[in-house]
This record gives sequence, C-alpha cells and structure tokens, in this order.
Amino acid sequence: MPAKAKTLDRERIRTMTARELEAFNAKTPKSAALYERARKTLACGIGSSYQWREPWPIYLREGKGSHLWDIDGNEYLDYLNGFGSMVQGHAHPAIVKAVQEQVLHGQQFSEPVEDGVDVAEELARRWKLPKWRFTNTGSESTMDAIRIARAVTHRDGVMKIFGSYHGHHDYVMVSVPGNYGDFGPRDDYGSFPYGAGIPDAVVQMTVAVPFNDLDAMESRLKKLAAADKVPACMIMEPAMMNIGIVLPEPGYLQGVRELTKKYGVLLIFDEVKTGLTVAPGGGTEHFGVMPDMVALAKSLGGGIPCGAIGGSDEVFAEVENFNVWQVGTFNGNPLAMAAAKATLFEILTSEGYEHLARIRGRLADGCDAVIEKYGLPAYTVTLGAKGCVTFTTEKVVDYQSYCDYQDAEMMDLAWLYEANRGIYAAPGRDQEFTISVQHSLEDADRYAEVFGELAAELTA
Ligand code: PMP
Repeated sequence: MPAKAKTLDRERIRTMTARELEAFNAKTPKSAALYERARKTLACGIGSSYQWREPWPIYLREGKGSHLWDIDGNEYLDYLNGFGSMVQGHAHPAIVKAVQEQVLHGQQFSEPVEDGVDVAEELARRWKLPKWRFTNTGSESTMDAIRIARAVTHRDGVMKIFGSYHGHHDYVMVSVPGNYGDFGPRDDYGSFPYGAGIPDAVVQMTVAVPFNDLDAMESRLKKLAAADKVPACMIMEPAMMNIGIVLPEPGYLQGVRELTKKYGVLLIFDEVKTGLTVAPGGGTEHFGVMPDMVALAKSLGGGIPCGAIGGSDEVFAEVENFNVWQVGTFNGNPLAMAAAKATLFEILTSEGYEHLARIRGRLADGCDAVIEKYGLPAYTVTLGAKGCVTFTTEKVVDYQSYCDYQDAEMMDLAWLYEANRGIYAAPGRDQEFTISVQHSLEDADRYAEVFGELAAELTA
C-alpha cells in the first residue's frame, strides 16, 4: 500500500472506461460478428456463462507461449492463462510432444494406463497423501471429495467459506459471490443458492463461515453440534483465489485443522487453483497444514481436461472397498495423463518454480513501484504463479471486507485499459494474474508499464 494514497476521481474513471470500451469495440469487429452468428445456436454465443462479457465475448484463435491472438488478429500477453489453468503457457513443447505421441496410439480407452500410475505416484510424493484418483474437472474433484467425506463420516452437511467457489455442482453452488444483501451474523451466515435450479434441501445442507475467522467457525460448529448437525467436511481453498487473492492470516489454517479435528469434520483443501501453481505440493506444502483430502484440476492437465483427488488411506478406504463409486468414462484418459506427466516431470520442476517466482517477483515489484509512485489506492498480493492488484487501501481478509472495499469500477477500467494495450487479464477480479513458465521478464515489465500508464492517467 502506498504511504499516502490518493482518492480517485470517479468521474474520470467513468470517462476513461467509456473511451476504452469504445476503442476495444472498434478493435474487435470480427468477435462482434461471430457473436451475432453464435448466439443463434450457442446460448449467449459462449460455451460457459463465465465466458460472457458485454457487449460481446472475445473469440480467441491462437495461443503460443505467453501470447494470445483473437480472431481480429489482436495480440495479447496472456495473464488470464485459462483462469489459472495454463501455468505451462500455450503450446509448451513438452505438452505438444507428449500429446502428439499419445494421440497416434489412441485417445481414449476407459481403462488405466501406465502414465496414470506415474502421475499418481508423483502427486502422492508432492502432497504426502498416499491415495489418488482421477477426474476431468475441478467440479468433479470437489464433488467426489465431498461424497467420500459424507461416506466416511455418515453425515450430509458441508461447511465452506462464504464467497468461495468450488465448482458448479449443487453441493457447493451455495454462498459464492453474488448479490445476497445481508449475509446474517458472522457465526450464523445464511445459505444462499448461486443461481436457479439448486434444490433448497441441498442449499440448506451447506453452511458458510467467513475466511480468516476461527471464532466464527468455532461458534458455528458449536451450534451445529448442539443441533446434531455437525458437517461431514470443511471444504476450502488454503488461500481464497476468486476475489483477487486473500491469504490466510498466520495461524488460521492451523486453527482450522485443529477445529476440524476437534469436531470430527474432514478437511478438504480445494487446490484446483492453488495446487501446482503455488508450490510443487500446492498450498498444502506452502502453508504446511495437512488436510484429509485435496482436490486438483486446472493446471494438472496442461490444457487437457484433467483433475485428481488425493487423500489419506483411511478416507480412500471408502473408495477401495467400493462403498463410494468414484467413476467416470474419461477419468485417467491417456491424453490427459500424458499431458499431466509432462507437466509434473518436465515443466513444473524445481527450475520451473524458480522461473515462476522470478517472473512473479518482477511483476509484483513493478506493480508495487507504480502504486507507490502514483499514490494509487491499491496493494498487491502474490502467491506462486499468481498475484493480483486489489483496488483498495483497506486490507481484504474475507468476502465481507471484499464487498465493503472492492472498487468494481476500477476493475472494469483496468481490464479494458490493459486489453487495448495488449494485456489480457482476468476479467472482473481485481487485477488477478497467472503467469506461466513461458512468461519472460520482459513480459512482466510490459504489464507493469501498462499499469503505470493507467495509474499516471488516473492520478494526473
Ligand atoms: N474449485 C476452485 C477453487 C475453482 O477455482 C474452480 C474453477 N474456477 C473449480 C473448483 C471448478 O473447476 P472446473 O471449472 O474445472 O469445474
């Protein structure tokens, strides 16, 4: 945070946003035209509602290294990186080779392959969790982990962090970011469905507590215990990664581990984002707190849909004795396993992580220098291959403080401003970035340079 932060001129932010939007619209006519065609058959012209943007989505054509091209031929430095799923960078030679070799020998068997054994052994080594299974997405990983927790504990309830996202199945489409008005008292937050189509009975089974607040969590657990409704599991990201980045306060994760043990609740770390991007053994290694299960996906498959769950022998006994059916036609798919093996053994090696730390450090230093120089009301947070600039001078520690302090207008402006200058950032999430092993120091400097131009104009 800057020593002395300026107050931003709201009118200027709006004028600049309107100007940048007009400029970006003018640069993307082919996306506009394809959208008109696409929306006739593809709902909203997109494959996932998270790909929506106004007035039209940006259709991409190519990715190479740290660069992206859209169908209008605009070139960008990619800091979205598939929402954190491409820490390998685009078309990494090791992934291309592994997938090309496998594709010539069959794409899908629905039977196990040796690469899958190599991947499971490496994940077990990295996470120090003995047993693993594969899935195809993060949602499948969290869904399967929760089902196993329910089987182990013979309970139905799920505890999560208010404002965290864990995928699109019913168990966790509850109390994620949304317009819920008053959430209720911190130790008794309401359970709110994220969109329509989620049965109320399922919504009520999931209770949410604030991040970084052990007192609220313990108080909620006490109330649930008194009502004979202790949850099966606590599912959480070790660091919140969907509202910019919110780090756990010192001792918080250890406290969660103690509380979950005290109440017999299984602890699931959702490492769909933190896993592989933060450290070889994800947030589990980085923060030094051992959960009962982890859920992985995103970066594991280097662009091929691939997820995994890992856990203790005790927990996985429910899978091994066939009480829980952990299944899927594409689980352990040979292309995904080839890409995951290349990721783990050739790309995300110790040199890979050193490179990520170097680039991330340069990027964060560059952004910090801009914030300080222009007195921007903002601060940076970084973790592994990821980081963000949060537009407020108040420290965000949980979803409530994020709602209280986030500067939504600045988030929109920054995205457009950067897109017009060849930087593709994560939309609508502060200035969250994921770098890849193919990003360079020059790429980091370019990001900071554009951020500096934005800050100069904002504060002039
Ligand atoms: N967990 C977390 C923490 C995530 O960020 C996401 C996706 N953004 C998911 C689960 C769901 O993953 P997927 O979209 O692959 O189903």
